[in-house]
Amino acid sequence: MLSRMLRQIERAVIWHRKRGHHVFLSDTTLRDGEQMPGIRLDPDAKVAIAKALAEAGIHSIDAGSPAASAEEVEAVRRIAREVRGPVVTAHCRTLPADIDRVAEAFADARRPYKKAITLFVGVSPIHREQKHRKSKAEILRMAVDAIQYAKQHFRLVTFGPEDAGRAEPDYLNELYREAIDAGATTIGFADTVGILTPEKAADRIKGIQDSVPNLSYALLAVHFHNDLGLGTANALACIAQGVDIVQGTINGLGERAGNTPLEEVVMALKLHRDQYGVDCGVDPQKLQKLSRLVARLTGFAPPPNKPVVGDGLFVTESGVHQDGLLKDPASYLPFLPEEVGAEPVHLVLGKHSGRRAVRHRMDQIGLSLSDEQVQQVVEHLKRSPARSVYASEDDLRALAAEVFPEGPATFATGVGR
Ligand code: MN
Repeated sequence: MLSRMLRQIERAVIWHRKRGHHVFLSDTTLRDGEQMPGIRLDPDAKVAIAKALAEAGIHSIDAGSPAASAEEVEAVRRIAREVRGPVVTAHCRTLPADIDRVAEAFADARRPYKKAITLFVGVSPIHREQKHRKSKAEILRMAVDAIQYAKQHFRLVTFGPEDAGRAEPDYLNELYREAIDAGATTIGFADTVGILTPEKAADRIKGIQDSVPNLSYALLAVHFHNDLGLGTANALACIAQGVDIVQGTINGLGERAGNTPLEEVVMALKLHRDQYGVDCGVDPQKLQKLSRLVARLTGFAPPPNKPVVGDGLFVTESGVHQDGLLKDPASYLPFLPEEVGAEPVHLVLGKHSGRRAVRHRMDQIGLSLSDEQVQQVVEHLKRSPARSVYASEDDLRALAAEVFPEGPATFATGVGR
């Protein structure tokens, strides 16, 4: 009786959430991200990242796989206890013993709507036949049994079938229908091998929306990989199609080419609110800090040209761009560095730099040059400079010494010689 009432209330909440102008972001840096070869996050590191994610406004955190090790149990337990805000979820096979392990990890997490379990089983032909060696009906049974069993410990149960992107749509829709009937509060569409394109991904989501009649009782989540560089594009296409949750990682960490980088989704939603019309709740100004923390604790720094969080995004060397940026930073930027919590635009000097930037940077280190001296520096930069760029104040002093070996006294006044 009580559980039936609870179920009805939950369904009302889910229905309400699905109608809001929201997309919920789920972070799996601590699970899929950590699966990248070479990354190992101990419980302290996981708690630190989870707290930063919570501070940024993430909706849920995939904290790990408790069945894998005692350390994973410890990490999930501590995150559930110490991190306020997001729903904390743990990843789990559809096996009763594994589900028990997850329930143990959450034993002292008292709030039933802040803890969740995500059950996965391979559902594509190749996963069914090669990995599980089970029929469609057997996989369906495993999923339903596991959901019903998990429901004894958790109010929030996600059914996240693996390799859904390559599963037969009719079979997948049947799985989803049965999963929701069995009590799943979220169903996930995972493109585990990163094979889909935005059009196909949106089409698959539309198929689910059209063919899973009880979908109003569950949130619909997507999970993409970046094997074709389409992780963000696929997530956005599915947001346009009306999914409720997008899962990804910070800095795009994850198996193989990584997962959808959440920072990219956050900024795309912010800059194109007219198109998507949804809020994700994550504060863009926290993105740079979050990215750096994850880079430091995983040992994997994103490349300088990584969208949204790369170290080199707001560093400019070329003359035409520098001239424009000095007049108005927005002239050559889609968004200002301050919007993602990064340092202001930084002009470095190199062979592509022009007079305006040279004068500006030399002014900043207290050297006021004549027009002729500025031209000498530009020429020097074009010829064969000792290095490709001059960035720091020390670099600029070294540059001045290279061009004017006779010393700073000769060009301190701004009057040409
Ligand atoms: Mn994955």
